[in-house]
Amino acid sequence: MKLTAFLAAVLISMANTLTAQNQWVIVIHGGAGIINRSNISPEQEASYRAALDSALDIGAGLLANGGSSADAVEATIRFLEDNPLFNAGRGAVLNAEGRAELDASFMTGQDRKAGAVAGLQTTRHPISAARRVMDGSPHVMLAGPGAEEFARSQGLEQVNNQFFITESRLRLLRSQQGKEAEGNDGAPLEKKFGTVGCVALDLAGNLAAGTSTGGMSNKRFGRVGDSPVIGAGTFADNRTCAVSCTGHGEFFIRWVVAYDVAAMMEYGGLPLAEAADMVVMQKLAEAGGDGGLIALDAAGNIAMPFNSEGMYRGYRTSSGEQFIGIFREE
Ligand code: ASP
Repeated sequence: MKLTAFLAAVLISMANTLTAQNQWVIVIHGGAGIINRSNISPEQEASYRAALDSALDIGAGLLANGGSSADAVEATIRFLEDNPLFNAGRGAVLNAEGRAELDASFMTGQDRKAGAVAGLQTTRHPISAARRVMDGSPHVMLAGPGAEEFARSQGLEQVNNQFFITESRLRLLRSQQGKEAEGNDGAPLEKKFGTVGCVALDLAGNLAAGTSTGGMSNKRFGRVGDSPVIGAGTFADNRTCAVSCTGHGEFFIRWVVAYDVAAMMEYGGLPLAEAADMVVMQKLAEAGGDGGLIALDAAGNIAMPFNSEGMYRGYRTSSGEQFIGIFREE
């Protein structure tokens, strides 16, 4: 590399570091799907907006006080896991046997460390289990009883599976199973998303990403979606971006969605918004993969594309910008 080109590259990276070091940003989603003004009441809408706002309060509070992006992501998602409005933790959708089977993943951008869990049934906060796999084990992904045993050994709170089950998720499951028995025509199952995710940039310039979900309602037991799959549902690298996805997991796995956004930035030189848009609005949409994602780069740029009717989403920044949205036109 010529000296001038080298110096220019050094200056650009210093400028990026400087911009990143004096700001924080947090972005969240609460799932994408068939969400429009005709199927959500004003009261439900208000509850969702209030929950998203409270979640952002938690993460923004930590980041503003110099907390790490990893801590902000974990704390924010723990709150959303406890909120029955969302398909993660309590209020998760149920598998065909009527049980909650929970998946989550976590990644930090400064070192590309990652942790994931799949098929948890008794760990109250799957996102914390994913982070413990990252920090406290030599592995990246643990599944089923072994994952649960690990979470327990790490002192993470255990609950009865009933703790996660709500009346409305049971009703959804029954209606899906009723329809299937009647028609049995191979029609796609009703898609009810509501996965939660968070990406954050901290004052030290580090990105982190996390995703937590109950998966898809009426899923076969043992089914694992994209949310715990690093590179599909979650990804973070300070050099490109942090991403958390929500949508029809089988497509997100096959299109390696979260990493594809980063790859388009790294190899294609695209800015974050263009890369995210191309993956969700072109590649995924053409394939028939419903859903969306949130993405954030180390310079604080945000993208939140979705090709479904709606996506629960929001962000806050250290410069005072804030947004909460549900519908397409917002
Ligand atoms: N992506 C999740 C899954 O397929 C579902 C969702 O995002 O709502 O498990």
